[in-house]
Amino acid sequence: MRRLCVFSGSSPGAHPDYLQAATELGRALAGHGIGLIYGGASVGLMGAVADAMLEAGGDAIGVIPQALVEREIAHPGLADLRVVGSMHERKALMAELADGFVALPGGMGTLEELFEVYTWTQLGLHSKPLGLVDVRSYYAQLVAFLDHAVAERFLTVEHREMLVVEQRAEALLAAFERWRAPVRTKWIDRAQT
Ligand code: AMP
Repeated sequence: MRRLCVFSGSSPGAHPDYLQAATELGRALAGHGIGLIYGGASVGLMGAVADAMLEAGGDAIGVIPQALVEREIAHPGLADLRVVGSMHERKALMAELADGFVALPGGMGTLEELFEVYTWTQLGLHSKPLGLVDVRSYYAQLVAFLDHAVAERFLTVEHREMLVVEQRAEALLAAFERWRAPVRTKWIDRAQT
């Protein structure tokens, strides 16, 4: 894996563990020689991942829409900041540059980005690993909901299992090393029960 895309909150969250986990992920990426692709902001967990990455001497590429350069305060330390025209261009470029995707805790933007690449995986538009760093069990209810979607037959077990869930960055990177693309591409359940 050469580059990993990290989706994460533009807020720091309510507990210091969240910022700590973002820092840990940035250091882990630098330690493994994996480049960071992210939203280019200097705020919240997004800024913390990039700060840790840059402090540890890693490579980071930020992708930010022009409209957010001031609102999310584009990270001044990035040697490679790509300013794009829209949110759609941001996501497309981040996905193109990355070999895998990780979500740290975050809000609506993080969830939207995560689920868009998840649907692209399900559709077979790319075969890159996707996972959550589930700090403080932030995503427990989301993961439980996905299991509910499997039980109700709106999601296949294979597609549910495409989302790797680990509590720590190192464990997630290790799982990504072992990851193999699933062969199943059909997602529609045609059974009539
Ligand atoms: P949040 O998780 O809401 O704090 O947002 C995290 C990041 O996602 C921020 O950089 C937002 O600008 C970004 N974001 C929000 N909505 C979208 C979207 N529709 N497409 C791409 N990025 C988004």
